[in-house]
Amino acid sequence: MTPKALDGGLAIGSHMSTAGGVDKAPARGASVDCTAMQIFVKNNQRWEGPPITDEAAEAYRRELARTNIPPDAVFAHTCYLINLASTKEDLVRKSVAALEDELNRCDKLGVPGLVMHPGAHLGQGRDAGIAQIARLCREIFARTTDNRTRLLFETTVGTGTNIGGEFEDLRDILDAIDMEPRTGVCLDTCHIFAAGYDIREKKPYENTMLKFSEIIGFERLRAVHLNDSKFGLGERKDRHEHIGQGHIGVEGFRLLLNDARFAKVPMALETPKDKDMTEDRANLEVLRGLIGKKTPAR
Ligand code: MN
Ligand code: MN
Ligand code: ZN
Repeated sequence: MTPKALDGGLAIGSHMSTAGGVDKAPARGASVDCTAMQIFVKNNQRWEGPPITDEAAEAYRRELARTNIPPDAVFAHTCYLINLASTKEDLVRKSVAALEDELNRCDKLGVPGLVMHPGAHLGQGRDAGIAQIARLCREIFARTTDNRTRLLFETTVGTGTNIGGEFEDLRDILDAIDMEPRTGVCLDTCHIFAAGYDIREKKPYENTMLKFSEIIGFERLRAVHLNDSKFGLGERKDRHEHIGQGHIGVEGFRLLLNDARFAKVPMALETPKDKDMTEDRANLEVLRGLIGKKTPAR
């Protein structure tokens, strides 16, 4: 059975380590039956990293083909230092350079989406922050016209001055950039829940997804992070929990996995795990058990 067939058409996996090179990720993903995955394209705690060689890019593509993971079901996540909404000139400069570099790395690998946190406005105000993010993205996109990787803004828990805790934040960023082929959105289940969007039961789930549909639009959704939440609804704390063991619970994930609006979107876990990835296996097993299940899960 091909990995794709495991998930009834859905693309589901987990964040995979690229230790030893990006070409090492597909085999790791395949070892826990990923049909999708998220990777970092360089060290996620540093501004710079060694370039991806032609050989490494080639090996990565070969490994994807060998492991049957569709190239379109892979997405990347930027390094955590980037903040396009920063008020500090030096940080803004470094953020722009790092983001441009990461978009180029993704394009070289054929990774279609790069997930990024919108940024923290650090007191200059939400609207000023969003205007700055949009201006800098347009500048980057103008310098990289041949790049095929979409920049995907991730929903956040919206703590402090962080932008992205409201669906309106992402809508306003995408509208301000106004370059549809270059942008999209990543929905993180833990983040939206901790930001106050309930998905635990049918009614609140439908209400949340109606808001998502009306404010952002599912046509802009390009990636999903499947994480349960250690903290409660609206607590604005970003701590991921294993699927079904947090405050969201299995029913929220059952509703999402059987929602046709999510069927074409690659999804990856970002839940805690050890090197042997037994936790990934367990979480993916829970998720796969929910696909096609018609009665409420508990
Ligand atoms: Mn993230
Ligand atoms: Mn996430
Ligand atoms: Zn998180």
